Amino acid sequence: MKIFESKKELNIYLDDIRYKNMKIGFVPTMGCIHKGHLSLIKKTISENDIAVCSIFVNPVQFNNTDDFKKYPRTLDEDIAKLESANCDILFAPSEKEIYPEPPVEQYNLAGLDNVMEGKYRPGHFNGVVTVIKRLFDIIGQCNAYFGEKDYQQLVIINHIVKQLSLPVNIHSVETCREDDGLAMSSRNILLTIEERKAAPLLYQSLLYVKKNIRNKPPEKLKEDVKTKINSNPLFKLDYIEIAHKDNLLPANDKIINPDLYRVFIAAYLGNVRLIDNISLSD
Ligand code: AMP
Repeated sequence: MKIFESKKELNIYLDDIRYKNMKIGFVPTMGCIHKGHLSLIKKTISENDIAVCSIFVNPVQFNNTDDFKKYPRTLDEDIAKLESANCDILFAPSEKEIYPEPPVEQYNLAGLDNVMEGKYRPGHFNGVVTVIKRLFDIIGQCNAYFGEKDYQQLVIINHIVKQLSLPVNIHSVETCREDDGLAMSSRNILLTIEERKAAPLLYQSLLYVKKNIRNKPPEKLKEDVKTKINSNPLFKLDYIEIAHKDNLLPANDKIINPDLYRVFIAAYLGNVRLIDNISLSD
């Protein structure tokens, strides 16, 4: 695996790949590589000639400096995992390389950032789009792979690619889960043993909503989940939401066509904030 820290050097290397008309697949990550990331890498390798992964813990998408500081950083292990997954290129830039000056971009996200993660983490998606746009500019024309685990991010990136006519095809990849249903996440290693044991309640809550979506109104289902989660002192629920899969607007009335909706959850487990979502279609 070739490792680049400099965007200029990466660009020169990719110029040659582009000249040869080879297909470039790109997986942006914040590192602490796990099986969820590796499923994106695997898909990228199978659908492209060259697989590029980036690792960059993007400061401007953290609305909480403490969260940024304690975000796990495991570059040596990450390199070993990416190498054994046969990734071709790792781009691991410094903060100065991506942001020589503090970024000032402001994106219009058409209200997709007004709900759920956007509502609870002000500025988060503007920060995500800021870094993704800069990374896309470096990588150039490519297939880019994103996980459904961060579904709202996926919708917002699709939106910005269309809005700015970026030469990037976005592909989504299903969420990888642990055997007990917990969505794989870099943050999972921050959980205590007790919190880790309790964590599958998030996925169970999503399954509860999915199972009952035809019998109970969204408000009642959300209330049930709130009561259940709040009865466990390890958790602090941020939100449980049922929202349209494309425009992310929350469903208020009884849902006629569950295929068009997903259920989303975000909660603190101790100090660790976890998110998850699933489709309501059968
Ligand atoms: P992150 O490093 O958390 O920014 O994630 C990098 C990419 O991996 C994003 O597109 C995520 O949606 C995706 N991802 C993270 N966790 C999972 C998972 N459990 N299954 C599939 N994709 C994931």
